[in-house]
Amino acid sequence: MADMVAYRSLSTSMLRCLDHVPPPAARAANCVPVEADDLPDGGICTYPDCGVDVLIPRGADGS
Ligand SMILES: [Zn+2]
Repeated sequence: MADMVAYRSLSTSMLRCLDHVPPPAARAANCVPVEADDLPDGGICTYPDCGVDVLIPRGADGS
């Protein structure tokens, strides 16, 4: 079973890492969770100054 790695906005196709998910109200209306299997080409968080590749597991190095 794949883990959810990000959210995608249905209206703008913006991808947000789990640190930068939109507020709950916006999320419910406009965003869907995406899993690693949904991003065969990878995915970069579109939040300003973030740029995290959501397919790279984080946390192992404490950052
Ligand atoms: Zn981000």
